[in-house]
Amino acid sequence: MKQRTIKKEVEIVGIGLHKGVPVKMRLEPLGDDMGIVFYRSDEAVSIELKPENVIDTKMATVIGKDNVVISTIEHLLSAIYAYGIDNLRVVLDNDEIPILDGSSSGFCMLLDEVGIAEQEKSKKAIRVKKEVEVKIDNKFVKLKPSNHIIYNFSINFEHPAIGEQQFNFDYSVEEYKENISRARTFGFLHEVQYLRSIGLAQGGSLDNAIVLDDQKIINPEGLRYDDEFVRHKILDAIGDMSLLGYTMIGEYNAHAGSHHLNHLLTKKLLESEENYEIVDLEEEKDQVQAIQRAYATVK
Ligand SMILES: [Zn+2]
Repeated sequence: MKQRTIKKEVEIVGIGLHKGVPVKMRLEPLGDDMGIVFYRSDEAVSIELKPENVIDTKMATVIGKDNVVISTIEHLLSAIYAYGIDNLRVVLDNDEIPILDGSSSGFCMLLDEVGIAEQEKSKKAIRVKKEVEVKIDNKFVKLKPSNHIIYNFSINFEHPAIGEQQFNFDYSVEEYKENISRARTFGFLHEVQYLRSIGLAQGGSLDNAIVLDDQKIINPEGLRYDDEFVRHKILDAIGDMSLLGYTMIGEYNAHAGSHHLNHLLTKKLLESEENYEIVDLEEEKDQVQAIQRAYATVK
């Protein structure tokens, strides 16, 4: 299997979640081995996607360099990685990725529209060789060896509209589009009110998040899936694992995980070469066959 980029450039304008102002975002094809690169056109600064460029994970995953930041990258990255794209430039004229409807389905539609181009060099992946875990209180995130790409997530919120939810996702792009990409981000009304009071979430609305009060979901249209909350957690985790720099082959398991824990997990895996290996997806090895099949359907 070869590396991938997009067939041609494409541009959209959308609102950023925090500032609430329109952001122009253009996706451009990039050559072999260039990776995912963000570019702030208003600052003329490039920021490569790698763990050391992650500067904040409290509310969203934020990357930065030379005091220039780009926020809320995880939903776009989730779609990029679900489509097996290795090389891409993301050009922005502001500091946030458009939030769209709070899920990644708009990014999937954009990628479907432009199409995926195969490149010259073989695609590489990072295969988990040793179990690595990050645990804080009763929350954990962990990576285990597997020949598949699997994400298992559970949450337990003491809220009547959420409660206990669990979802297991065995990667394929169809499954991703159907069962993961449409799951929206969510927040609690008291948090939203607080964020607004400190100047954040200015673009947040019922159009780009599920919002809950103490008892129920406020959005009049309700949920897209009964367990939309945990599915969104998987969407986020796929985006966050893209910081490893390659498609992750292995089993991701989490209970009550977060961007913060995911970031610590990527750093911990990369700490020692005993934990992982870089595999070539052109080679017909047993460990990569399932992955080749899973990606084969992306056009
Ligand atoms: Zn999210």
